[in-house]
Amino acid sequence: MHYDAVVVGAGISGSIVAERLASKGKKMLIIEKRGHIAGNIYDRYNSDGILIHEYGPHLFHTNSKRVFEYLSKFTKWRKYVHKVLAYVDGKYVPIPINRTTINLIYGLNLSTDEEAARYLDSVKETYNKITNAKEAVVSKVGYDLYKKLFEGYTKKQWGVDPEKLSPEITQRIPVRINTDDRYFTDIYQMMPLEGYTKMVEKILSNDNIEIRLNSDYKDIINKIDYNILVYTGPIDYFFDYKYGKLRYRSLRFEFLTYEQEIIQPAAVINYPDKKIPYTRCMEFKHATGQRCKKTTIEREYPQSEGEPYYPMLTDQDKYLYLKYEKESQLIKNTFFVGRLAEFKYYNMDQAAMSALKMSDNILKLLDKE
Ligand code: FAD
Ligand code: UDP
Repeated sequence: MHYDAVVVGAGISGSIVAERLASKGKKMLIIEKRGHIAGNIYDRYNSDGILIHEYGPHLFHTNSKRVFEYLSKFTKWRKYVHKVLAYVDGKYVPIPINRTTINLIYGLNLSTDEEAARYLDSVKETYNKITNAKEAVVSKVGYDLYKKLFEGYTKKQWGVDPEKLSPEITQRIPVRINTDDRYFTDIYQMMPLEGYTKMVEKILSNDNIEIRLNSDYKDIINKIDYNILVYTGPIDYFFDYKYGKLRYRSLRFEFLTYEQEIIQPAAVINYPDKKIPYTRCMEFKHATGQRCKKTTIEREYPQSEGEPYYPMLTDQDKYLYLKYEKESQLIKNTFFVGRLAEFKYYNMDQAAMSALKMSDNILKLLDKE
């Protein structure tokens, strides 16, 4: 059997590239080392019948019409606006920090945006240049709010001091002077009506796509006849770690089911307290809208060993990535796309966009040949 392209990884990135090329008549093979499709957006019903996210809370949000319209071909949506509370000093407060957060933490009564802005101006610190994840927060909300809401969470999540991390990590979380308590402000915010796995199943249901699960591509690639390779796994693994190992942060997930309809006041509660070993806790039913007597929550315990989930954005790792990236650009007919292969802190819509663009490029190239 000859394949026009082999895709390594059946996550959202690999699945989209496979679908785009298959839709143009290309014969595709996907090799996936796990026993299921969908990568980290995989969801499934647990033994209590509750739809859970196997690899941490996944909320879809995007400003990209292209990504939204593309995915809408494969799923209907459920409207859902994500909200997160942080548990601080015995209270639940909105995160991202907004006027309500400041009022609740300090027992204040700031009643206008201007008052909140003045408050933040009085506590924030000025830097000539923001160089790390700590300064990115302190420059906006001052040291005390940083300490209460970011320091412990970030140290737990990444296992290094926030000063060692790139500012873009904490800059993901905005600071607001109004009372908007949405986690995301993107135009499109929703959940796939039947879940992410069903959506990916539909993306992959094409006669030109064959899927081989439970296989590391390195074990079988030499026996396969193909023209193009699209790789979505960790880039350092592809090169047998020749320049050294990139660091990816991992997580252990703990699932608990309760005989109760709902157990926590929001879909996600963040726990910045250093003494609590997990970072956050997701209760799925808030986001999926499922109605049933029991409920399942999932706690995230960060760790350095295990499945690579987050690229560690430190100067050292970014520098090492550049070496691999440079080398990857020299290999003919091999393309690197996705969160692990591009070593980027992509949300799923960004991974989807990167995969759509990569597919356009590959198709152009194939047309030329
Ligand atoms: P992956 O999903 O990692 O897929 C790569 C696939 O390649 C995997 O299935 C892997 O098994 C396979 N693979 C790797 N190596 C090999 C090999 N050697 N051989 C064969 N197969 C291999 N994004 C959002 O937009 N909203 C959220 O709320 C959100 N929450 C998140 C929460 C957590 C805890 C995490 C970790 C991520 C979250 N994300 C979220 C990000 C989102 O998961 C990613 O952007 C997206 O899943 C990336 O897709 P991908 O296909 O690039 O990578
Ligand atoms: N963060 C934090 N406290 C919070 C929320 C986020 O310190 O309550 C920091 C932390 O470093 C985290 C980063 O901001 O890793 C990005 O948060 P996000 O919720 O986007 O993380 P993800 O959903 O990607 O795990």
